[in-house]
Amino acid sequence: MGEFELIRRFFDRGPSRRCELGIGDDCAILRPPAPGTTLAVATDMLVEGRHFVAGADPVAVGHKALAVNLSDLAAMGARPLAFTLGLALPQADERWLEAFTTGMFALADRHECELIGGDTTRGPRAICVTVLGEVPVGVALRRDRAEPGDDLWVSGELGGAALAIHLGARAGRCERARLDRPEPRVALGIALRHLARAAIDISDGLTGDLGHICERSRVGAEVDWPALPCAPGLGALPEEDRPGIALAGGDDYELLFSAAPENRSPIEAIGARLGLPLTRIGRIVAGQGVRVLDARGRPMTLARSAYDHFA
Ligand code: ADP
Ligand code: MG
Repeated sequence: MGEFELIRRFFDRGPSRRCELGIGDDCAILRPPAPGTTLAVATDMLVEGRHFVAGADPVAVGHKALAVNLSDLAAMGARPLAFTLGLALPQADERWLEAFTTGMFALADRHECELIGGDTTRGPRAICVTVLGEVPVGVALRRDRAEPGDDLWVSGELGGAALAIHLGARAGRCERARLDRPEPRVALGIALRHLARAAIDISDGLTGDLGHICERSRVGAEVDWPALPCAPGLGALPEEDRPGIALAGGDDYELLFSAAPENRSPIEAIGARLGLPLTRIGRIVAGQGVRVLDARGRPMTLARSAYDHFA
């Protein structure tokens, strides 16, 4: 199977809905967004041996390559439109490609996000997705909009993905799924337009990602450790291991956002409508830095704060 047959068989799914011209020419030709809307663009790369192990389930790799990108759109309150796919493969392995595209397109179709182009080359396995989304002018949920007095909220549960890494082969199905098949919180991001002030998706761990909001917004934050919605599996760990995994573990792809206290009830209603727990975990304060407080309100010391590829 040559490069062009591979593209035709696995990636070209016929006439484009989003584009004047989709896969097959030198460029995709995309219609500009409707008046009053802006384009949100994000890129995330997955490298074998770094983000997933050699031999990882290709269905999960296909899902995750797109999911982490959709999560970036979710964090801005943007609606997914389309994506491109850069793919390096050691060989044209049909079974791998079949499974990879199954995982990727299942998620893409659920979010009506269309593959409109890409590049395919031989090389060490790596996947680079760029997503395009739309959001009304001035409405995007930015990292630099948090204000002292805001509540801090988080969706879902934290620590499940990091627990899967921590436990390795001993991890349960639930934790494995949290690591392999994160669910981008797209509907939540869109629902939070006009309600949240600042938002970020938790890819590198709560404290690190909250630190980004604090830096960009020039504020500080306090997190109440007992309020944190931890993945149930964490209860089986020694107590001293739990904060590191829940606060600094990463890979959860939940949304962390700040909102004015007067928006508490509409935000709770969104959680109920989406069937997604939304938990108030702390507050934005004047100053700088992230402090995690124990049950008695005393600052806790944490061994590490976030994942950093170059640290
Ligand atoms: P070019 O040589 O102009 O870069 P390519 O031969 O790389 O074009 O690609 C041919 C067409 O196939 C283009 O429309 C490109 O967007 C598309 N394409 C290539 N690889 C992929 C891929 N992995 N996923 C989706 N579309 C792809
Ligand atoms: Mg090319």
